[in-house]
Amino acid sequence: MAEIRIDLDTLPTPEQAAFVEAAVRNSFRVSAFDWQSDGVTITHEDTDSTDAMAAMARRFTFIAKNIDKDLVFHNDVPIRFTDDPQPELERRRDVIPIEPGFYSFQGDVLRVLHALNHSVQKMAAEFDAVEQEHPAVWPVRLFKMIDYFREFPQQMILCAPVKDDFKSRSEFSKRFGNDADFETVPMDELMADAKYGLQPAVCDCCYYTLEGAKNLQNGFYTTANRVFRNESSATNQLDRLTNFTVRDIMFVGNEEFVLESRQRIIERLSKFLTSLGVNAKIETANDPFFANESAMKSVFQNVHRLKYELLAYIPHLDKEIATGSINLHTDFFGRAFNIEASDGSVAHSGCIGVGMERMTYALFCQHGADLKDWPHPVLSFLGLDA
Ligand SMILES: [Zn+2]
Repeated sequence: MAEIRIDLDTLPTPEQAAFVEAAVRNSFRVSAFDWQSDGVTITHEDTDSTDAMAAMARRFTFIAKNIDKDLVFHNDVPIRFTDDPQPELERRRDVIPIEPGFYSFQGDVLRVLHALNHSVQKMAAEFDAVEQEHPAVWPVRLFKMIDYFREFPQQMILCAPVKDDFKSRSEFSKRFGNDADFETVPMDELMADAKYGLQPAVCDCCYYTLEGAKNLQNGFYTTANRVFRNESSATNQLDRLTNFTVRDIMFVGNEEFVLESRQRIIERLSKFLTSLGVNAKIETANDPFFANESAMKSVFQNVHRLKYELLAYIPHLDKEIATGSINLHTDFFGRAFNIEASDGSVAHSGCIGVGMERMTYALFCQHGADLKDWPHPVLSFLGLDA
């Protein structure tokens, strides 16, 4: 019998302790865990592998930090501005309405949007993420492989061309000249079948391109792109758009790597929100990413939160809006696309995504319509102080 002592900052919850115990007991012969507020003592019979056991217990204690917490982080800074900034942003044409749910951006709004994208991109670089660029449309095959049409028909926007024959093309061009009376175009006999659709998320193409991979090394990826959802704001504001920009950081590999990466990124994102001086939270979402059956079977996963949201407070609406999310997909994409991690297991994956328009909107709502009023450290963090 031997003992290992690991120091802790706080006493873990019973669920967190059970998670660490299950993981360590899986690999080592442990007779007892004794949890105290400042540390844990592990009594064991594996005297040859003390170091490996201590390393594993430390790693899983880190992974377990948030597993049964609903509120992971709250940057509860005072609110300085309570007015709706949008009228002023539209007046100076930083925001130009096109249609409900569609806007053009320029000026300071666009500068902030680009700076946010760049700062999440820099965060990805700290994890040595591979930068990727994907198409903004998905083939129907991709939608089918992840059963998207069944799960989210309300969000779909499919694309279809005019039929590839002279009769359809000439009839179409006659019917829809600018002298004709129409406001929408019916999907009728002149139109061909949809072979692709506008992408509703930025990261799925990353997993799609890994289809059939064997011996995939644990790794990070990042991409920014436009996503499309069949929705728009009830009040015609920037809080809900049909077409918006998201930067994701994805992590793909074995289960331990994915859980550990998520915890590392949650801590990094908390620092990011602090640097933005934004009143925001990281909290469990009510609509988890699809929890497939295998997720429920695992001893690890029943205490994990599958989805967290980055919620920013919008003072003039007196409500919080989701400006990003942290998702654990378990082995959903690994199974859908037959991806095998380097240890031979089905690959797990997770991602964090930051919605650029919504985060930009939250910053203008909280810091004011004029960059002159923004806290200097925030401008300097975004590289906008020059
Ligand atoms: Zn994602």
